[in-house]
Amino acid sequence: MGDKGDGIVVIGAGQAGAQLAMSLRQGGHAGSLRLICDEPYLPYQRPPLSKKFLAEYRDPDALFLRPESFWRDHDVKFDLGAAAPAVDVKARRVALTNGQEIAFDTLVFATGTSARTLPVAGVNLPGVYSVRRIDDVVQLRPALNAAQRVVIVGGGYIGLEVAAVARSEGRTVTVLEAEDRVLKRVTGPSTSAFYDRTHRERGVDIRLGARLVAIAGDTSASGVRLQSGEQLPADLVLVAAGARANDDLAKVSGLACQDGIVVDEHARTDVPGVYAIGDCTRFFSRRYGRKVRLESVQNAIDQAKAAAAAILGKPQAYDPVPWFWSDQYEIKLQIAGLTDGYESETVVGDPASARFSVEYRQAGRLIAVDAVNDGRAHMMSRRRIAEETAEIAPAV
Ligand code: FAD
Repeated sequence: MGDKGDGIVVIGAGQAGAQLAMSLRQGGHAGSLRLICDEPYLPYQRPPLSKKFLAEYRDPDALFLRPESFWRDHDVKFDLGAAAPAVDVKARRVALTNGQEIAFDTLVFATGTSARTLPVAGVNLPGVYSVRRIDDVVQLRPALNAAQRVVIVGGGYIGLEVAAVARSEGRTVTVLEAEDRVLKRVTGPSTSAFYDRTHRERGVDIRLGARLVAIAGDTSASGVRLQSGEQLPADLVLVAAGARANDDLAKVSGLACQDGIVVDEHARTDVPGVYAIGDCTRFFSRRYGRKVRLESVQNAIDQAKAAAAAILGKPQAYDPVPWFWSDQYEIKLQIAGLTDGYESETVVGDPASARFSVEYRQAGRLIAVDAVNDGRAHMMSRRRIAEETAEIAPAV
């Protein structure tokens, strides 16, 4: 038995877990506060992993959200490199892979997501990578240094960000996208067209409608095979095919899950005293009239603050205008709101100038805006969307 059961235990010490700990201490929580994480690092920011950190590759400490002294000063304890394979929410205990068992009053799942793997032959060969954790980049960076021909499976944010880094280093880069345009899951056709053109102009070979059927190679990846029958040589294959919620542990613990741990506007699960925050959650958005699962720093931070407020007995309902960013080459994309279900798309400004925005409307209301190299438009759009989407639907 480890701690006495008077405290708060958090499973996962990423962006959301770290923010929760900070907000709890700031809000006056004086009891024990313990974060369990299967990664061996103090809480760090993930966005640079596919951007600056990959390009410049410095000491991982540069990514840490706070130095070790901060956590010590705030009496936040960590069990790092220790997974939580089992939770008993009735007996209020968590078992750790290192043999410890910890009692809790309040439990918070902050388990994030995992990189989605592909059900194709060769996906486990050496030379096939994904980018989710520091340790992924520790492996990817030297492999990238030694690679000339890079094939990236997936034309979403992470795939395109890594494509930008690899192409800027002069490597031959091919992006395979199964859909008919890049970034289809997150933006409209105008923004996709801009990014498609931007990458092609810089020499990236983008293959749309390209379905990967196998990764070839005997001892390591040497190429990819497409459904069309075409084979492409590769020294390195990056799979960037999205992420899935880490909700398995919550599911076996008896919590309601729907590709994400289901929580209310206070980050409460259906078990009293058990919360969930960040990428691993799904919650009802009154603004968008449906359940959403968000993968963004904004959501991790703001939902963690909402959970802290509820735990501290000062609940504040959370119903965000989500926002996100992506850096590719010298271009910054900032997205506010959610585009799903939009009925009209208006381009404001000239994409040829690489400074423009795209407004998405549904039933006449502004529901999302992509701003390219225009921070002002992005900030204003967050306010405008908040006003126009307020209370579209009642909570369910
Ligand atoms: P995470 O930060 O993923 O942390 C969860 C932690 O829990 C992980 O360390 C995980 O290993 C651990 N864990 C899971 N299960 C267990 C268990 N059973 N026991 C112990 N530990 C466990 N967002 C943006 O807004 N802008 C961006 O530009 C952007 N770029 C990104 C680029 C990359 C390469 C990646 C991977 C993500 C990016 N994101 C970006 C998303 C953003 O990083 C996430 O939304 C954010 O990290 C979510 O925080 P989280 O705490 O919910 O999860």
